[in-house]
Amino acid sequence: MVEFPEVNGYEFIAAVVGKPIAHSLSPLIHNTAFRQEKLNWSYHAVEVSQNEASECITAVREKNIRGLSVTMPLKEAVIPYLDGLTETASKLNAVNCVFWDGGDLIGDNTDGDGFVNALKLQLNEPLNGKTVAIIGAGGAARSIINSLGDNPVKEIIVVNRSNPKAEKAAYLGGPNARVGSYGDLTACDIVVNSTPLGMAGTSEEAMLPVPVEFLSSTQTVIDLVYNPIETELLRQAKGLGARTFSGLGMLIHQALLQFLLWTGLNTSIEGIESVVSDAVGR
Ligand code: NAP
Repeated sequence: MVEFPEVNGYEFIAAVVGKPIAHSLSPLIHNTAFRQEKLNWSYHAVEVSQNEASECITAVREKNIRGLSVTMPLKEAVIPYLDGLTETASKLNAVNCVFWDGGDLIGDNTDGDGFVNALKLQLNEPLNGKTVAIIGAGGAARSIINSLGDNPVKEIIVVNRSNPKAEKAAYLGGPNARVGSYGDLTACDIVVNSTPLGMAGTSEEAMLPVPVEFLSSTQTVIDLVYNPIETELLRQAKGLGARTFSGLGMLIHQALLQFLLWTGLNTSIEGIESVVSDAVGR
């Protein structure tokens, strides 16, 4: 049964739904943002399994949940029950947030634009002319490739263990995207791991998504995995002299785009970065 918390003195309730959900950092990010903007909103993690997608969206309507973040395994499952999708969510066939447009519930996907917003800040220089390699071709990779395709990068190269998924993902990036192999990485300015290799507490924690000999000191290496903050890939890339960034940037920026959709407000990132880094560090 899907149960959202009662309003209990707050003006609005917002939530993240998925399963498992207990360790989600979204409540920390959004509740910090609500406090920063002095909004009397409260954000909760609510466990919802895939077969409860319909019930979940009915409850969102009945309880007037003002903002909904959607994670695994519901990103596709909620789609039939919404009133519409943004162009991005429709292209990706995946929703990571739901917002109200008048009386309609609309699904959007802020993952890719969140990644690009984080990347622009990290690089502190324009994306023009950059060659970006994406390792992996799953949901996260697809959203990033789709958003990079809307930016003036020189080339997007998708490297994945299974070729058909790589082809489909590369298609989302438009004419400057193609499937490649490890050998292409040496010519890339930016290398992004979008596989789960390196994640803490798994048998793959010590594994590298790309052999380190294909990386160099001139590159920026980003790992979408953010637990640990410094994965084995980032540790070795840093050892070579590369610039490295964890997936916390994407995590926070995709949330801030959701926050903007729900509240109409841009909030500052600094306070959020510090509480989230502390939480992951613990
Ligand atoms: P996904 O849809 O399951 O895709 C995983 C991709 O990794 C697939 O392309 C898969 O290859 C590849 N892969 C998996 N295991 C592999 C292995 N042992 N060797 C080589 N390739 C392997 O997962 P996702 O949703 O895209 O998420 C990927 C990672 O990004 C996860 O660690 C997730 O936590 C992280 N993530 C972070 C953020 C953030 O905000 N920082 C957001 C979303 C996701 P095949 O195609 O061949 O199966």
